[in-house]
Amino acid sequence: MAAETKPDVKESEILAAGYQVSHSKSPLFYEKYERKGELQGQTHYCPGCGHGVAHKLIAEALADLGLQDKTIFVSPVGCSVFAYYYFDVGNVQVAHGRAPAGATGIKRTHPDKIVISYQGDGDLAAIGTAEIIHAANRGEKITVFFVNNAIYGMTGGQMAPTTLVGQRSTTSPWGRRPSNEGFPLHMAELISGLEAPVYVERVALSDNKNVMKARKAIHRALEIQRDGIGFSFVEILSPCPTIWAKDPVEARKWVAETMIPNFPLNVFKDKKHEPVENAVVPQRPVYEVLEISNAPVGPDAPIQSIPANAHDASDQSINTPAETAKLEDINAASAPRPHVHHFKEFEVKVAGFGGQGVLLLGQLIAEMGMRERLEVSWLPSYGPEMRSGSAHCHVCLSKERIGSPVISHPDVLIALNEISLRKFAAQVAPGGLILYNRDRLPADFPLPQARIVCLPASEIADKLGNTKATNIVMLGALLEETECLLLETADDVLKTKIKKVAMLEVNRKALAAGREFIDNYVRVGAVSQPDGFSY
Ligand code: SF4
Repeated sequence: MAAETKPDVKESEILAAGYQVSHSKSPLFYEKYERKGELQGQTHYCPGCGHGVAHKLIAEALADLGLQDKTIFVSPVGCSVFAYYYFDVGNVQVAHGRAPAGATGIKRTHPDKIVISYQGDGDLAAIGTAEIIHAANRGEKITVFFVNNAIYGMTGGQMAPTTLVGQRSTTSPWGRRPSNEGFPLHMAELISGLEAPVYVERVALSDNKNVMKARKAIHRALEIQRDGIGFSFVEILSPCPTIWAKDPVEARKWVAETMIPNFPLNVFKDKKHEPVENAVVPQRPVYEVLEISNAPVGPDAPIQSIPANAHDASDQSINTPAETAKLEDINAASAPRPHVHHFKEFEVKVAGFGGQGVLLLGQLIAEMGMRERLEVSWLPSYGPEMRSGSAHCHVCLSKERIGSPVISHPDVLIALNEISLRKFAAQVAPGGLILYNRDRLPADFPLPQARIVCLPASEIADKLGNTKATNIVMLGALLEETECLLLETADDVLKTKIKKVAMLEVNRKALAAGREFIDNYVRVGAVSQPDGFSY
């Protein structure tokens, strides 16, 4: 029979009394912890630390529920930063405070997985306040375990958002004063005040009875996620003997006698699924939002046209009746959209100065991808300046769901200025393509492994009457050179984006000019020589 070890009773005495002592570890933990060689049998936590108990309860609950193979554990920055050494599940370690954001992305990409965000008070309630509040408010179907020991442990005992009034820390040696440091944050109460969370409870690792209650709460929170109900949150009041300068027994006592009166234990919320689900606005399919046909893409795809009245009412005030009639003619001329994409995934980076239409070009490519039934992502990056600062964006077109919108090695770089060429050319995948907005490369430019096509897109756009169409010249070149998407789709997108007929005409000409430049280029045999130079 297994016996519980009391601190003042030695194991030998228990054995002498005829009991058997059983030390067991959840099968959900790794057999050996791959840390420093001599420490493979123990965790890095201090003796008496609540993290070890919390880990055990979570491991046991996952094992009981049979969720080990489905679980992805997101560990934070803080004392539990090494959680991935212990839990034999999928593990991701994220930047400080960002665990709920990381967990959101993982859960949305893998909705069938059990995603756990495990965080301490500095991580969750200080640097990560925004992440936890918004993940909870969105009702992400993740489980958050919040270990609250009212102090920063790993960094040496600074005041945490949950430090009690009067509690001393290295940054509040006089004790926390509300007049200067504010009041402790009550995260469980805060989160339960939001609409979306389904389950919010505060428990404590103060004594065996409360540990058993914590066990139940952790179980319940994971069940809620397993059943796809919604956001679950368990705050765990936990001893930190080292920073509190107490022995493990005193530390547990401090949780019971000092922390619990300040952070009352309670089930703050345990609601059923319906209220959140009823509030959800059904998501409209992309084809409906874009007002395009739902017919499959292929040789039998129907002719598409965008009705002239599909634009805002403001269209009517912009275009004259003659122009509106012309727009209708343009739409009526729309062509079928059969297209078999020759790639599984196609990644484009567009870079240049702010004001060159860098981000817009990325958006146009992404929208074209959507119209051709591809998965797409668009990720912008720009400086604080609206004009003349650097900007770039990542666009991914894929036949499958996209794991990350960040592109390390694009298939194509569209460099609208020299700075972007120099900065990003080396990132292009071997055999990829660089479209550079000049008629020749800088003399000292080192040859990358990619093909380079130089085209004076700005000059071409200038001649067409509007330098702003530079990005559309580049789009035409991209489509002609790579055949990644259909020219007709580009035309459709332009028609929905540009409301003024005169401007639409310029952009259509720019699209054609980019295409023709590539065509002529090929005809004179000057494009994409094996040595990487176009000229
Ligand atoms: S410092 Fe505190 S929270 Fe960190 S491992 Fe030690 S006891 Fe645990």
